[in-house]
This record gives sequence, structure tokens and C-alpha cells, in this order.
Amino acid sequence: MTIASLAQLDGKELIAAVARDYVGRIAVTSSFGAESAVLLDLVAQVDPSLPVIFLDTGELFDETVEYRLELQAKLGLTNVIVVRPTDEDRKAAEDLWRTDIDRCCELRKVRPLAKAVAGFTALIDGRKRAHGAERDAMATVQLSGDVVKISPLANWDAHQIEAHFVARDLPRHPLVAQGYRSIGCWPCTRPTKPGESPRAGRWAGSAKTECGIHTVPLGTVKD
Ligand code: SF4
Repeated sequence: MTIASLAQLDGKELIAAVARDYVGRIAVTSSFGAESAVLLDLVAQVDPSLPVIFLDTGELFDETVEYRLELQAKLGLTNVIVVRPTDEDRKAAEDLWRTDIDRCCELRKVRPLAKAVAGFTALIDGRKRAHGAERDAMATVQLSGDVVKISPLANWDAHQIEAHFVARDLPRHPLVAQGYRSIGCWPCTRPTKPGESPRAGRWAGSAKTECGIHTVPLGTVKD
């Protein structure tokens, strides 16, 4: 299907269509965060053997690492690939979140992910317009360098996400009960207050709203 045709689809239908069109060249990226179970459940219904790339920055909450195992088992995902920064980059990034968050994200996230996705020409992610900021006007299907990026939940709002959790009896990330609604690395994530957008808890107090993995064209990342 053309990108324009794919862009007419949504949710599971969109995942099924790209899984057919990009056999062997498609992967899912997931943080196994607050809402990740919804996308991963749809992926598992289409094809539980699709590669799911999980980026372990070395600064994740223990709860995220445990939740990843729980969700993987519950959904029957058979091809979760754990990606980490190189030892050299981890060393260079030590405590960098205190002084240079952009460089820290580059070393711990952008670079390892860019290596992990090399060879895939279509990537599925869980971004949603309802999370605001740069995501406000995002498309369900878009090009990033030579890679097609697919966001099957781009049009979904908080009510649809919640309804899917309930309908499918999906397990919750343990930190959701403590008010975390978008979950990344522990130094850069806090619970949100009533009325705040889910991503207000990420890099709070700074102008940063994205780590770079969704905004830096993948082909431009250098070793
Ligand atoms: S989210 Fe924070 S700790 Fe994680 S890579 Fe970015 S700056 Fe570093």
C-alpha cells in the first residue's frame, strides 16, 4: 500500500497492513511505559513474533524492567530485543543527566537505537497526538530519512486507551498508581499533577520535551 493509503488506517488495521507490506523489515519500538501495553497488545494480536525493541538506557526505573518481563509474558511476545548503550557511551554519560540532558539522551538513547534499527525500513511506535507538544500534529504514517514511521495510536485519546486496558484486562505499569503517566528514565521523570498533560512529567523544569529518538532522522545519527 502507498503511504497515503496506510495513513487512512488506524490501530490494529494499520499494524496488520504494514506487517504485510514490510515483512522482515519492520520492528516495533517500545518503552514498556505507562500506556505501552495497548500498542503491544495490538501488535501481539497481529503477530507476536514481530521484533519489539526495548531500549534499556541504564537509568530506567526497576519497575519498568520488571514490567517489561511481565507484559512480554502476558502478551506472548516472542521477539523482544533489549538494546543498551555501549560501555563506552554509558561511561561518557555517567551523571550527565545532571548537566547536559541532550548529550545524555544522545548517548543513552539516540545512538543505541539508531544502531538497533539499522536494517529495518518501517518502525512502529506508540506516540499519540493527545500527549501534546511536538506530537500535537503528528501523522499516523511519516517518513524519517529512509524509514517509514508508523504510529497506530496517533489518533487515540485517553478514554480510548483506558477502554482498551479494561477491555483486554491489560496489566498496568506499577508506577501509574503513583501518578506517573509517561515513564522514561528515573532522573528525568516525575508524576504529573491533575490537569497536566501526560508528558509534563518528563524533563520537568527544562524546555526539553523529546529525547531525540523520534525527532532526529535516523539516517543522520553518527557513531
Ligand atoms: S531521559 Fe534523562 S537519564 Fe535518560 S537518557 Fe535522557 S537525560 Fe539521560
